[in-house]
Amino acid sequence: MGSYVEFRCANCGYQEAQLPVGTGRDADKELKLFACNCCKSVHSTWVVGENAPRCSLCYDRDIRIIEAAPQSLDCPKCGNTAALVSADGSWD
Ligand SMILES: [Zn+2]
Ligand SMILES: [Zn+2]
Repeated sequence: MGSYVEFRCANCGYQEAQLPVGTGRDADKELKLFACNCCKSVHSTWVVGENAPRCSLCYDRDIRIIEAAPQSLDCPKCGNTAALVSADGSWD
């Protein structure tokens, strides 16, 4: 069962609510969180096997996978410290 996380930057106001992460019914693929260096977004994308994932928004390959655990991380928009928190709900 997958879960949701939320990204919030208090500095510039950039926010992504309810980003799905984890593995659902199909154990062969997993939704992973990433920060895209091209469109400066935090989002989640399907990762299947060894295939290099792309940004789900702009399809660029220049992305950095982020562990989907509560943590502080750099905001891709403004570079200041932002927060990743767990959100309510689950999916499968
Ligand atoms: Zn920011
Ligand atoms: Zn992108």
